[in-house]
Amino acid sequence: MFQNSQTLFERARQVIPGGVNSPVRAFKGVGGSPVFMQSAKGAYLHDVDGNTYLDYINSWGPMILGHAYEPVLKAIQEYATYSTSFGTPTELEIKMAELIVSMVPNIDMVRMVNSGTEACMSALRIARGYTGKNKFIKFEGNYHGHADSFLVSAGSGVATLDIQSIPGVTQAVANDTLTAPYNNLPAVQQLIEENPDSIAAIIVEPVAGNMGCILPQPGFLEGLRTLCDTHHILLIFDEVMTGFRLARGGAQERLGIRADLLTFGKIIGGGMPVGAFAGRKEIMEWVAPVGKVYQAGTLSGNPIAMIAGYTMLSTLDLHPEIYTQLEEKSAYLVQGLKQVFTEAGIVHQVNQLGSMMSVHFAEYPIIDFTAAAGANNELFKLFFHAMLERGVYLPPSAFESWFISNALSQEDLDKTIAAAKDSMKAIA
Ligand code: PMP
Repeated sequence: MFQNSQTLFERARQVIPGGVNSPVRAFKGVGGSPVFMQSAKGAYLHDVDGNTYLDYINSWGPMILGHAYEPVLKAIQEYATYSTSFGTPTELEIKMAELIVSMVPNIDMVRMVNSGTEACMSALRIARGYTGKNKFIKFEGNYHGHADSFLVSAGSGVATLDIQSIPGVTQAVANDTLTAPYNNLPAVQQLIEENPDSIAAIIVEPVAGNMGCILPQPGFLEGLRTLCDTHHILLIFDEVMTGFRLARGGAQERLGIRADLLTFGKIIGGGMPVGAFAGRKEIMEWVAPVGKVYQAGTLSGNPIAMIAGYTMLSTLDLHPEIYTQLEEKSAYLVQGLKQVFTEAGIVHQVNQLGSMMSVHFAEYPIIDFTAAAGANNELFKLFFHAMLERGVYLPPSAFESWFISNALSQEDLDKTIAAAKDSMKAIA
């Protein structure tokens, strides 16, 4: 079934570390050999062996409207004829910034970068420059990209590969990264008391998606907001996953809480390599060339990336019904899967908000990294492979969120639930 993928993987491993350009793709979290894709359209992925899958990763988030979304493809084709890069300002960058500012609450200005990593790295630098303080707090199992400062108790691939300490990240850098368990306000409070006047920022995934999907418990984000206000700390919402996904205005809109700085990635680029950070003018004007906090990029605001992102965001902006549809589809899937697991007599937790969700095989609620790590992740591996064989492509790790796309039809969801039922029988 996976002959060509296996051959390609062997070849890839000779010239690419681990055969992949990003670790979780290697299937280390579930075992086996990764599947190489050839093309994708709507809700479906097509691999190099002629197999077809219903996609629940959607390129780890960006493809909220499904693959090869026609308006984005057409826009890319048209703009590519003008030049693939100018390295000068363009009107398109203004339109993109205006659109983002109009969609996202509480921001006046935005700077485009090329990845979520760059966005988070830059936001942290600004928070440090603005507050004049060095340390920051992040949460165990949250992932903010691979900049040195964030590779402490990180989620996603770091959790999947179970890397406790990362060679190359100096102790001096790691010393400024303080960590607390997600959803644990007293732990945050304690860190602030132990480090008086030295914390620049608290960065958080407002809905976590890098240890599976974990929801903020009532009062958690509100509590962070209050602590930040009291102690002159900037609150950074990492909306790389949640931005333009949980609502038109992201987690801030959906959850009704305001952050001081926001970071974006994934959907904002419509499948092209794009990230952004944003905030109120008084903070954003600390960035060069107005301020001294240096931040730059040869390809930042790249015209092809901008038109792809602009087309994607415009669609989401003009069609609020997309969010209602995503909500209905996700709720339907969650309901169906829960029923399958219950009938199979398997303890489970399905966490979901909007079109982010994940399944953990545990009898207790999954509210932090320790809980996610303690679930029956061996069963998840079996479930993953059983689903893959039945044409459903789930994230290849229990420490990743599933992403629902609006290209999924009712029939696709029913097929997925049926595949889950069949998988549970096969596993038993
Ligand atoms: N923040 C979050 C919440 C993410 O999920 C990710 C990537 N999955 C990043 C930052 C880093 O983004 P990128 O991979 O584009 O560098």
